[in-house]
Amino acid sequence: MKLRTSISEAVYTYFDDVFGDQLQIDVPVDRYTSARVGGTADMFLTVNTGQQLQAAVEMAYEKRIPYFILGGGSNILVADGGIKGLVIMNRARNVRFKHIGSRVICIAESGANLSSLARQCIAKGLGGLEWAIGVPGTVGGAVVGNSGAHGGDMSQTLRAATVWEPGRGARVYTNEDMKYAYRSSVLKQEHGRAISRRVVI
Ligand SMILES: Cc1cc2nc3c(=O)[nH]c(=O)nc-3n(C[C@H](O)[C@H](O)[C@H](O)COP(=O)(O)OP(=O)(O)OC[C@H]3O[C@@H](n4cnc5c(N)ncnc54)[C@H](O)[C@@H]3O)c2cc1C
Repeated sequence: MKLRTSISEAVYTYFDDVFGDQLQIDVPVDRYTSARVGGTADMFLTVNTGQQLQAAVEMAYEKRIPYFILGGGSNILVADGGIKGLVIMNRARNVRFKHIGSRVICIAESGANLSSLARQCIAKGLGGLEWAIGVPGTVGGAVVGNSGAHGGDMSQTLRAATVWEPGRGARVYTNEDMKYAYRSSVLKQEHGRAISRRVVI
C-alpha cells in the first residue's frame, strides 16, 4: 500500500497490527469539530476503551510521533494544513455509578458525553453536574479545560481522574493535582498526558 502521509510504513503497520480497522489514514478532521474547518490527520485512530486510549498514547510516545487526543472537538480549531502524526478520537464512553455508604460516586471514561452524563445524574437524583447540561463535548475535554457554566465548573465537581503519563504509566490525579484555574488545568498547560480510564465525580 502506498501511504500519502508523512507516516512511515513501519509506524503505520505497528498501529495497524494492534488496532486494525479502527485506524485510518489521511482523514479530514473538520467533520469531527464544532467549527467544521481544518485539514486532514495523517493517521486517525478511534479508541473505544480507556485501555485502548492508553495503549495508543504509549505507542505514539514510543515511536516518537506527535499525537493529539480528540474529544468532542468543541474547543479546538484545526489548521488548514491538518494535523501531523496521530489523532486519537476518544470514544471510551463507559459510565457507572457506585454506592459507598450513603454517597454515590460516578465513574466515567473520558470519552463519555458530558451533557448526557449530567442528564443521567439528574435522572438518578444526583446533584453536582447540573451546570454541564448545555456544555458540548466529552468529560475528558471538560476535565482538561475546567469547563463550566451557570456558576459551576469541573474544579468544583471532579474528585479524581486517572491520567496516563507516557513513558511512566497511570497516575491518579486528585482535584488538587489538577491545579485548576479559570478554564485551565495542569493538563492544559502541559500537553501530552491522557485522561484515560476513570474520571470520578
Ligand atoms: C456551542 C458551544 C458552546 C460551548 N459552551 C461552553 C460553556 O458553556 N462552558 C465551557 O466551559 N465551554 C463551552 N464550550 C467549549 C467546549 O464545549 C468545552 O471546552 C468542552 O469541555 C471541550 O470538550 P471536548 O471534548 O469537545 O474537547 P476537544 O475540543 O475535543 O479538546 C479540547 C482539548 O482537550 C484535550 N483533550 C480532550 N480529551 C482529552 C483526554 N481524554 N485526555 C487529555 N486531553 C484531552 C484535547 O487534546 C484538546 O487540547 C462550548 C463550545 C461550543 C461549540
